[in-house]
Amino acid sequence: MVKILHKILEFLFPPACPLCDTPVSTHGELCAACWTEINWIENPKCVKCGYPFPADLDLGGTPLCPVCASDMCELDWIRSACVYDDASRGAMLPFKHGGRIQYARFMSRAMMWALRDVKIDADIIMPVPLATRRLFKRGYNQATLLARPIARATGIKIDHDSVRRKYREDMGHKSARERAENIRGVFSVVRPDRIRGKKILLVDDVMTSGATFSELRRVLIRAGAVAVYGITFCRVVRAI
Ligand SMILES: [Zn+2]
Ligand SMILES: [Zn+2]
Repeated sequence: MVKILHKILEFLFPPACPLCDTPVSTHGELCAACWTEINWIENPKCVKCGYPFPADLDLGGTPLCPVCASDMCELDWIRSACVYDDASRGAMLPFKHGGRIQYARFMSRAMMWALRDVKIDADIIMPVPLATRRLFKRGYNQATLLARPIARATGIKIDHDSVRRKYREDMGHKSARERAENIRGVFSVVRPDRIRGKKILLVDDVMTSGATFSELRRVLIRAGAVAVYGITFCRVVRAI
């Protein structure tokens, strides 16, 4: 019965690429053209923060970027599915600000793929919290939409209310330093009992300077977390 219903629905709403409406074989999948547009992060990359290196660079078995080599990356590891550029922005902006929540499907699947080379031993999956005021305005936390399918696929519990976030003005075009200052003190752990002794995988849509992850990690470690990892759909890649 469910199968017949499924067939009828497929007939009425044939699967189409969420970005360009080209017919595809499965709901939520990107078409080949959109897929190749996106700059997916492959090897070689920094084993710690996932920073992508040029494809022809041979850095041996465990390449580290200069930031991680000088021990400045605070998370235990970070992975991102793709580079933040014109192509991924074309998906990110409607997803984050235009209610295109159906994009979470291909985005979270790409994020699972990006996690393939790390050991996922997290006890908790935590979407980066949104300030209540922003949550009401937007109607959803995009990080939660990405975290849910990852929690389902890995069988790890999701936690979206142990940490709260204060409202601050948007950090749109600020420098890394200004972002770090602006984010300082916005997070507070309201349920330390759920954090103590835990390994936590943070989920966000985009990593810009890494300031959000660093600040959230700081309060989680202070509350007794033992490891903090990060996964995002895309990340800003600056020349280093
Ligand atoms: Zn497409
Ligand atoms: Zn690195």
